[in-house]
Order: sequence, then C-alpha cells, then structure tokens
Amino acid sequence: RQPGSSRRRVLLKLSGEVFGGGNVGVDPATVRGIAEQIAAVGEEVEVCVVVGGGNFFRGAELSRAGMDRARADYMGMLGTVMNCLALQDFLEQAGRATRVQTAITMGQVAESYIPLRAIRHMEKGRVVVFGAGAGMPYFSTDTVCAQRALEVDADMILMGKSGVDGVYTSDPKTDPEAEKLEHLTYSQALRQNIRVMDQTAMTMCNDNDLSMRVFGMEGDGDVTRALLGEELGTLVTP
Ligand code: UDP
Repeated sequence: RQPGSSRRRVLLKLSGEVFGGGNVGVDPATVRGIAEQIAAVGEEVEVCVVVGGGNFFRGAELSRAGMDRARADYMGMLGTVMNCLALQDFLEQAGRATRVQTAITMGQVAESYIPLRAIRHMEKGRVVVFGAGAGMPYFSTDTVCAQRALEVDADMILMGKSGVDGVYTSDPKTDPEAEKLEHLTYSQALRQNIRVMDQTAMTMCNDNDLSMRVFGMEGDGDVTRALLGEELGTLVTP
C-alpha cells in the first residue's frame, strides 16, 4: 500500500447474469444502474471489478452441446470482455475514470493484465475492470476473483448476486425452510456443499486468509453500501 494510505481496497465480482438483466447480451439500463452505484462511492474506496460472462457463453454448456471445451472456454472469456467495455463506458459516463485490463492481450480494446499497474490505477482513484478471466480454459471467473484479489492486495471480495441477497442453508427459491446465514466459514460451505462460489475459489480464499461478503444487488443503493463496508448479506471467512 502507498505509505499513509488507509483506504479500503475491494474487489467486486459481477457475474454475467447481472449484465444481461436475465437475458443474453448486455442490458444497458442495468449496467448503467450498477455503474452509477459504483461511481457514487467516490474515491474513498479503491475498487476493482472482476466481470463474468455467463450472459454470453459458458464453456461447460457449449462443451455439452458438442464443442471442444477449451475453445468454448475462450468464447466464454471473450464474452466477459464485452461486459467489461459496457461497464467501463457507463462508469466513465458517471464520472469515474476506468481502465479495463484483460488476461488475453487485445491492445486496441484494453490494457493487458499488469498487477502493479492495476494497483497504481486504483491509487489514482480509477476503477480497474478485469476481463477475459484468467486467460486459461477450465477456470471460472470466481477463481479469478480470488487470484486477482490476492495479487492486488484487496481487503476483501464483494460478491454481488442477482435474485438472492446472501447465503442460505438451501435454495430459497425452492425450499421455504431455507434460512439466511449472517456468517459462515469456507470450510463449512465446502463441507455442506453450499455453492457460494466454486470450490477451487473457496479453497484459495480459505488458504490465503481472504474474506468475502455475498450480497444481493436488487435493493436501491446496495452496491454502494457494500462497497462502503456496510454489513449486508452474508460474511464468509476462513
Ligand atoms: N472462463 C474460462 N477461464 C477463466 C474464466 C472464464 O475459461 O479464467 C470461461 C468459462 O467458459 C466460463 C465463461 O468464461 O464459463 C464465463 O465465465 P463465468 O461462467 O465464470 O461467468 P459468470 O458465471 O460469472 O457469469
């Protein structure tokens, strides 16, 4: 950290689902809303974002439909970049300087992933949006969240969810008995098979002492509140 800086640094995960507003492609109104909530935080919190791509392609699904898995995963990664560009556009319209860094080099569209440069951008008050996952097939953007958060020294991961406002004992959409948890540990989640994020990602967070807050993005201003450190949703700790 820059000497004397006590600013919080957080990594926000936005899944592709959020960008599409439930459909394939990007829903500009939804992305604008999220960007405005991020911009509302101002520069008191350093923010980087890992963006998913499930609103375009998921490698595993294309592979089940007959495609080569690695090639399908590359399509998945390219999808995340379109979401990144949409988010960058609306963040800049909302007055927040933004840089996109991708794990697959595409110099015309974005910077390459350079961790020290990402940190410098955040220190200057810019939002950094990470795209193209890890640049490697067979990974997920959840795993990338854990890796990027560790490498850029984020204080925690904020996992924004659509359709659910935290972690429940079972699926609240199908089980009326499902209870929302205030707190749980990664080992509990792994043991009880609660899919907070994928298992590789949870193991990585657990082993490297990285906490995460899972929160719903439906409520007005929830993203801003989560970025500012309010205790929404569920806290997951090692
Ligand atoms: N992907 C990949 N390697 C990565 C990150 C993503 O191969 O490091 C591919 C994978 O096919 C995945 C797709 O990109 O299904 C979209 O990412 P993800 O499913 O994690 O997005 P989300 O579910 O968050 O929308």
